[in-house]
Amino acid sequence: MLSVESLSVRYGAIRALHGASIRVGAGEFVALLGPNGAGKTSLISGIAGLVAAEGSVVFKDKQIVRLPTEDRVRRGLSMTPEGRHVFANLTVAENLRLGAAIQTDRAAFAADLDKYLTLFPILKSRYNQLAGTLSGGEQQMLAIARSMMSRPSLLMLDEPSLGLAPRIVAQIFDYIAILKAEGVTLLVVEQNVMQALKIADRAYVISSGVIRHEGPAQELREDPRLIDLYLGG
Ligand code: ATP
Repeated sequence: MLSVESLSVRYGAIRALHGASIRVGAGEFVALLGPNGAGKTSLISGIAGLVAAEGSVVFKDKQIVRLPTEDRVRRGLSMTPEGRHVFANLTVAENLRLGAAIQTDRAAFAADLDKYLTLFPILKSRYNQLAGTLSGGEQQMLAIARSMMSRPSLLMLDEPSLGLAPRIVAQIFDYIAILKAEGVTLLVVEQNVMQALKIADRAYVISSGVIRHEGPAQELREDPRLIDLYLGG
């Protein structure tokens, strides 16, 4: 589904990503792991078109590296940024409607709305509440539901568990597992390494802008030496 070759991202003189290559197959859950400042956000932002990137990004057999973000969303690529970024002064309902901005079919919109309000019942009970008044976990659920309203075939999540209490983190991962079971392909950046490796199929480890390791999630999960080596325990 996604094939990234030699992707580089720079911010002025700072090179954040040095020729990273990754692949994500249809239906896979791929975790992107690495320490702070490793280049994880730069990699998925480059794939989403949120930052300029050099190299190749082939998504569903089409080269998209020069396309604007909106066109990538139309092709089925969606990203939920770190820190959730819901529109605080808009209601839950308005946030979900914005997520479906590319959806022109009213019946499909209504069906998706019903689906995600059923999956995330808390959003149904907070439907007309301003998003800024939701708890951190609720905002993360809203951010994920909003991304899903564009019917992505590949959803990229940047640190969905960041700053959330362990009980809420477990809940968020349960929801992500449901999306995976529904056939959504996922590329997920996580600091919560073990939690991510529990449901991921494969993982990439990145540090200082370079991919250092790629392999089945199980291999990393079962070999603490690899975790120590790449992720510092
Ligand atoms: P974290 O887990 O801390 O979010 P990350 O692995 O996602 O880190 P990036 O956010 O991609 O890493 O950052 C990679 C490098 O690029 C870091 O050294 C960071 O300081 C730098 N960087 C990121 N965004 C910018 C920017 N807008 N301008 C300048 N430098 C940036």
